Amino acid sequence: MTAAATTTAASPPDDELELGTAAHELMGRLFGLCRSLTGDGVRATFEILGEHIPLQVTEVPSGAPACDWTIPDEWNVRDAYVARSGGERVIDFRRSNLHLVSYSEPVDTTMSLEELRPHLHTLPDRPDVVPYRTSYWARTWGFCLAHRDLVALAPGEYRVVIDARLEPGHLSYGEVALEGESEEEILVSTYVCHPSLANDNLSGIVVATLLAQQLAAQPVRRHSYRFLFAPGTIGSLAWLERNGERLERIRHGLTVACVGDDGPLVYKRSRRGDADVDRVAAVTLRDLGTPYRIRDFEPWGGDERQFCSPGVDLPLGALSRTAHAEYPGNHTSADSPDRITAASLGRSIRACLALLQALETNRTYRNLAPVGEPQLGRRGLYRTAGGAVTAPPDERAMLWVLNQSDGTQTLIDIADRSGLPYASILRAAQRLEQVNLLRESPAPDR
Ligand code: ZN
Repeated sequence: MTAAATTTAASPPDDELELGTAAHELMGRLFGLCRSLTGDGVRATFEILGEHIPLQVTEVPSGAPACDWTIPDEWNVRDAYVARSGGERVIDFRRSNLHLVSYSEPVDTTMSLEELRPHLHTLPDRPDVVPYRTSYWARTWGFCLAHRDLVALAPGEYRVVIDARLEPGHLSYGEVALEGESEEEILVSTYVCHPSLANDNLSGIVVATLLAQQLAAQPVRRHSYRFLFAPGTIGSLAWLERNGERLERIRHGLTVACVGDDGPLVYKRSRRGDADVDRVAAVTLRDLGTPYRIRDFEPWGGDERQFCSPGVDLPLGALSRTAHAEYPGNHTSADSPDRITAASLGRSIRACLALLQALETNRTYRNLAPVGEPQLGRRGLYRTAGGAVTAPPDERAMLWVLNQSDGTQTLIDIADRSGLPYASILRAAQRLEQVNLLRESPAPDR
């Protein structure tokens, strides 16, 4: 089965641009919500995702352990602003949630611009954009604004109000579990803790949602699937704390984040470096024929830091486009939905679907006539006229599959080594199995 065959007529639209458009529309609905590590913005996000996918939400109480960490207090904001004495708001959370430092503690006071100044964050070298700042683990408060607006503030007294609650509550994470023929799971994870920022990481949220929707509509799944939507770091730690027994079921994993911009797809290998998902990602991205990069593992980035920590060490890679540090507008108001196209989102979804479908269809075989080359012509699998200098691609694919199928190589390994598209290798294996030249054998022990 190829990516194009993953959905049935009854399932949601499988056309790449339609999927991308649906993802972009969902992004528009989610953009204004004030997400953070905890709070009602995350819950409101889950409520909207729940319209598309069967999301189960887990609430973990503040103070509960999460591996070496502790679930923080819950943060919710009703309103926040800095106003002139006349009441005119010069910084206003209601205009953009980026204006308030995430996890700011409640404040209601009046102070001079001089006293206020240390609580104001700007980017002097990018004077038109509002930075995104957090203070999750140190209690403080602050506002973010464009530097040009800061320099325009007149000296004098300002009213400062942060009508927020920062008190024991819960951290929320959401999961979609899809049962397959096997209990072995594929984990797809993305983080949900960023407020009004589009690529980082609403793009990951909407792509994972559309993927879950596509997989849910698929009539047959070889693997079971688990889609995890959790606040970055602390959310995946909270999930790990509660799912230690599940980990051995996870056969393959992928984090998806920052996948909405026009940069090439970037796959970062698992800590293991040669897991099936690493091999499958390399072949899938190669076969897509669009620019891509493969990077080695490093303990830096998103939630792969947790899933690939030494005590967990899942076979899990990370898919993104332009990485965090490489986009100058990252973590600023420049990361807006205008910068994200439905086409890019659609291509990211297609790439993920192709990768998951390759994981679904990848198998290991044993050649049942391994001494010499079996006679394909007799079985109707070889051209009847001889003499051609090069074999047609489908014949070469069959010869590769027969040659490599000694029980140690998967179809993806063969696609990699031969340079032939995975779809050709898969088709060749299916034809050879039909004429009893191949038998499926257990996956190589890696
Ligand atoms: Zn970020």
